[in-house]
Amino acid sequence: MAVALYPGSFDPITRGHVDLVHRAARLFDRVVLAVANNPGKRPLFSVGERMRMCEGAVTNIDNVEIVAFQGLTVEYARTHGIDVILRGIRAISDFEHEFQLAGMNRHLVPSVETVFLAPSAKYTYLSSTLVREIAAMNGDVSDFVTGNVAAELRRRLRAEAPDAS
Ligand code: ADP
Repeated sequence: MAVALYPGSFDPITRGHVDLVHRAARLFDRVVLAVANNPGKRPLFSVGERMRMCEGAVTNIDNVEIVAFQGLTVEYARTHGIDVILRGIRAISDFEHEFQLAGMNRHLVPSVETVFLAPSAKYTYLSSTLVREIAAMNGDVSDFVTGNVAAELRRRLRAEAPDAS
């Protein structure tokens, strides 16, 4: 069975990530979307919240599973018998970092291949960072994230907003 591991912060998952999952789900028997539990990055959402948002965003894709992981991505792949790491390339600016990561991962575990997919052109400028920034300034993020994620962003940012009274 061909399985792809799609690792990331997903803080939060965007329609660009979902687009990639759709593409991968057609190419692989199973896609494992792996939410990185990396407290050093100080994410806006906890790993549990990010997993729940991912579940809601890909609920209509059958062969996707959501997991959390800590530590090296290649180690997770190796210990779970997964041969492919999936990463997204939005633009040339992503390429250098992703290429370096793929080379390092190949050095660490040569049997694991990295596969790159490009999203639909309309998502090439989309990132979780921009979504967080737009939402924090009360901008409309509905073109960029699924409804469950937009609602979660509103809830979180309302809770964090200073009391206006
Ligand atoms: P990380 O912290 O690992 O970069 P991200 O959640 O930002 O985590 O991204 C996970 C993967 O998804 C990366 O390979 C990234 O290039 C890709 N990605 C991020 N945004 C998009 C997008 N809009 N379209 C396609 N791929 C994307």
